[in-house]
Amino acid sequence: MLTTQSPLARETTRRASEPAALDSAVWQRILQQVRIQHPGLNRVWFDEMVPRQLTNGVIQVTVATPAQMNFCQSQCQQPFTAAAQSVTGRLIAVSFHCNNLPRGGVFNEGDQPLPLNPDYTFENFVTGPCNRLSHAASVAVADQPGQAYNPLFIHGGVGLGKTHLLQAISQRLLASNADARILYLSCDSFINQFILAVETGEMHQFRHRYRHVDLLVIDDIHFLAGHDRTQEEFFHTFNTLYQQHKQIILSADCSPSEIPELEERLISRFNWGLVARIEKPCYETRVAILQKKARMRGLTLPEDVLCYVAAKVENNTRELEGAITKIQGMAMLQEGRIDLDLAKAALGDTATPEQRRITIQQIFDAVTKYYNVRLSDLQSKKRHKSIAFPRQVCMFLARRHTRYSLEEIGGYFGGRDHTTVMHAVRTVNADIESDPDVAEQLTYLEGQLTA
Ligand code: ADP
Ligand code: MG
Repeated sequence: MLTTQSPLARETTRRASEPAALDSAVWQRILQQVRIQHPGLNRVWFDEMVPRQLTNGVIQVTVATPAQMNFCQSQCQQPFTAAAQSVTGRLIAVSFHCNNLPRGGVFNEGDQPLPLNPDYTFENFVTGPCNRLSHAASVAVADQPGQAYNPLFIHGGVGLGKTHLLQAISQRLLASNADARILYLSCDSFINQFILAVETGEMHQFRHRYRHVDLLVIDDIHFLAGHDRTQEEFFHTFNTLYQQHKQIILSADCSPSEIPELEERLISRFNWGLVARIEKPCYETRVAILQKKARMRGLTLPEDVLCYVAAKVENNTRELEGAITKIQGMAMLQEGRIDLDLAKAALGDTATPEQRRITIQQIFDAVTKYYNVRLSDLQSKKRHKSIAFPRQVCMFLARRHTRYSLEEIGGYFGGRDHTTVMHAVRTVNADIESDPDVAEQLTYLEGQLTA
């Protein structure tokens, strides 16, 4: 209940509904509005949010965990504010708080609180043959940091749950020990922090920061590839923590020895503890994941819809989530029940690429035409960017849209090995994320291929 007596509060609530203050009915309407406008955002735990007070035109909402607070602050502020304004007809904002912030400090770059995602917990993780070992090892490490496996190295393809597990470990450790000093960050951040420390002469602080933690988690460690000086620094960080029995957890898109240009001594250390691989989920696991993801959103999907989606979306788990969001969106739009027809309509035109049908020749044709390069150049050893980049795009597309192995794809490009192909896939993925031009080029090319 909001009981503040500011003029705005009185006015807002008088307009909105009975009795005084912003009562729960208003809050319910705000929630409902958010759920309708942003189906993908909805979480079951929204029901447990407590709108505390309305001060200076801001509704202060309390959530239960730091991870929920991070989620709300990064994704919900705008949608909730818009809903609050439309429900009350006033220019008010919504802000999120949590009373249980960790004391030990969970920090990433710039001493910002760790961006933990409340969805990424062990409770929300579905196990199957594809990930059983990684999951069991993660639970063991969360319960006995520094003792079970050190380091824990989890690897597997994009969207298979590595980040989810890393965050689940951090969240469980935090829940059992609010004083734990946890440093969770992406490899990119580590590299950037290191470069910055070198430039500003603050190596001492840098070292202090990374060598005095109970748990160091670095996601996507394969980005260390080729960064010699950062590797050297990380080597010492690793040793210091290891000797103090502090837990180290790493993830990568391939096994330690497959990371290109990684120092031998790091490879060997990464293999000291447990190296666990996550495979693509099988059909049954996909059904279970869909069910779990739907429930988290307060949604029940009928059996036949679950089976249809699980059979159709087999690439990675992130795409399963996307499918749920599409179906949910379509259901909201049509105000209809979710059934098989609706699911088919929602996913119909965005069918996953016909993986068996696209040939490598079609990829060559599309890419050479688009970038105006010759096939013989792509297959040559030339390294100029005007050729190297289209070549990487070809590899990326071949990996994504055909069933060829990394080795086979490498073979098409003048006998390059699988690490080169992996590197190409990563580079293009990273470029798509960071460079809108590249994202547009790839959207166009994929459109050509799947047309
Ligand atoms: P990665 O880091 O391996 O690229 P993520 O951890 O980001 O993958 O996972 C992508 C999405 O798939 C996330 O939303 C995650 O919650 C979900 N996901 C992956 N594996 C599972 C699983 N076994 N159970 C539940 N959700 C999963
Ligand atoms: Mg990840």
